[in-house]
Amino acid sequence: MARQHQHRMADVTGGLRMAGIMLRHKTARSGFVFVPIPTKPFPPETWEECPGCHQVHQCKTVHAIVNDSGLVMVSAGVLEDMKHSPTWDEWEVVGEEKEPPPLHIDGKSSLSLLEQRQKQDQEHRRLIIGRR
Ligand SMILES: [Zn+2]
Repeated sequence: MARQHQHRMADVTGGLRMAGIMLRHKTARSGFVFVPIPTKPFPPETWEECPGCHQVHQCKTVHAIVNDSGLVMVSAGVLEDMKHSPTWDEWEVVGEEKEPPPLHIDGKSSLSLLEQRQKQDQEHRRLIIGRR
């Protein structure tokens, strides 16, 4: 049970500390996009409210937080999972980032998790543009 919990929390901030793949959602902007992975179901006895989004997920669900351009960075492992989602066709692969800057989540920040993430994604995007 505890392990499932960690898994789900890992998805909330998923993959941002490692090399990753930049994805763009074709329509969603600035917010959560839930990507269910039905090939990775959770046993019913572990179904409980998700600490990240307060929904009950019956299978592994990637919590992608897209910025105002619909961009999100995911790890290679998360990308593989997302390719098994029925909603995968809503995404396009934009590029690969070998060493993205770490994501800092500050529990004492006045900003929400989503706002912190959006702010850092904006900064991250400027870094990418600035390097080219
Ligand atoms: Zn959730």
